[in-house]
Amino acid sequence: MNNFAGQLHCRNVRLANRPASLLNDPMDERLARTIESRTDELAALTADLIRFPTINPPGDAYRPCAEYIAERLRKRGFGIELIRAEGTPGDSERYPRVNVVARFDGRTRGSTVHFNSHIDVVEAGEGWTLDPFAGIIRDGRVYGRGACDMKGGLAASIIAAEAFMDVNPDFPGAIEISGTVDEESGGFGGVAYLARKGYFSRPKVDHVIIPEPLNKDRICLGHRGVWWAEIETKGEIAHGSMPFLGDCAVRHMGAVIRCFEEELFPALDQKRTRMPVVPEGARRSTLNINAIHGGQTDDYSGLPSPNVPDSCRMVIDRRFLLEETLAEVKDEVITLLDRLKGSRKKFDYRIRDIMEVLPLMTERDAPVVEAVAAGIRDVFGREPEYVISPGSYDQKHVARIGHLHDCIAYGPGILDLAHRPDEWVGIDDMVESAKVMALSLGRLLYGKTP
Ligand SMILES: [Zn+2]
Repeated sequence: MNNFAGQLHCRNVRLANRPASLLNDPMDERLARTIESRTDELAALTADLIRFPTINPPGDAYRPCAEYIAERLRKRGFGIELIRAEGTPGDSERYPRVNVVARFDGRTRGSTVHFNSHIDVVEAGEGWTLDPFAGIIRDGRVYGRGACDMKGGLAASIIAAEAFMDVNPDFPGAIEISGTVDEESGGFGGVAYLARKGYFSRPKVDHVIIPEPLNKDRICLGHRGVWWAEIETKGEIAHGSMPFLGDCAVRHMGAVIRCFEEELFPALDQKRTRMPVVPEGARRSTLNINAIHGGQTDDYSGLPSPNVPDSCRMVIDRRFLLEETLAEVKDEVITLLDRLKGSRKKFDYRIRDIMEVLPLMTERDAPVVEAVAAGIRDVFGREPEYVISPGSYDQKHVARIGHLHDCIAYGPGILDLAHRPDEWVGIDDMVESAKVMALSLGRLLYGKTP
């Protein structure tokens, strides 16, 4: 991880002279046909999953959704564990953080391939023209909150694994499928919790595929780093009619923002990365001012009393690159704040870390990357596009806590549709993606095409 090898960005290079059917191996061909024959089942499974309104926050319907997945896979002979992440943020009797991990051991020993999907979705929000939790199948698409992010990917991985097991009943190694919670809120009750318990480490697991909606012909190698922090400027309270007797913390924060505008934002814009982040605009350092608050609380609807605010707080969301260290990233902000302290009368501040995630990039020659790349070549007849996600996802926990670096995100669904109204996933895209997953299973478990 954190190594960058060679030229990563080679998109959509068509391979010359490929036959109409791209699968030369009869077993691969059978696998592909088996998945195609289960198209309706795949769509129905996706729709069923959407009908569990697993909205996070608060973390609704986690248990019934996890139990539904457990029940389906138990019938196929998987060993099932339902694991509640007790004591993690948001866990309660009303909203238990229930994860499901299913494992099927093959006929002989070998490596383990794990498909991890989060079952939580974000709230539906406004602007829908159809019921977000009805699981509507129409015009070759499945509609609903979570269709693309990422119940379609979860369903595709289940169909891929089942078809693979049917075509290769004597396969070596093991297949695991997990449905985990709370990814949308950081993954602490989901993958992070399981990773701490050893679910995402060798020798239990060797290769991890996270079917996030990165598009069916792209491999996501990792993500940029994250530093969230809260900056507070200090002031002194006084009567608002005589502000000169106090010291306004909001004005001090204004000075901080001016510094950011004049120096920090232009400097960040110049920091380009070799990481193939999509979209292109995120191929650099960025900073978002996530929230700012000073003075009287805004949850009170009465008249304000006249006060000079003695505190102003700002939350910043800094996304950084493999080329930067976390220490440098923090230093950049602290240097500006210290300079203000030296130059601006009465300026004082406090800074508090909220979250830190280091940037990640799985190497291009990692086994899971090569296996999925070969699957994409077989199914689509072109080179995969290798990308990096602008935001982080559960891969961070697999790498940092599980110390497992053979991990990528690969799945159907168009990234731009995630979290939007009328979210959908294309049924053909899921079928093709399931083929890639099943072919990848063959390569990883047999060490080559079975
Ligand atoms: Zn997601």
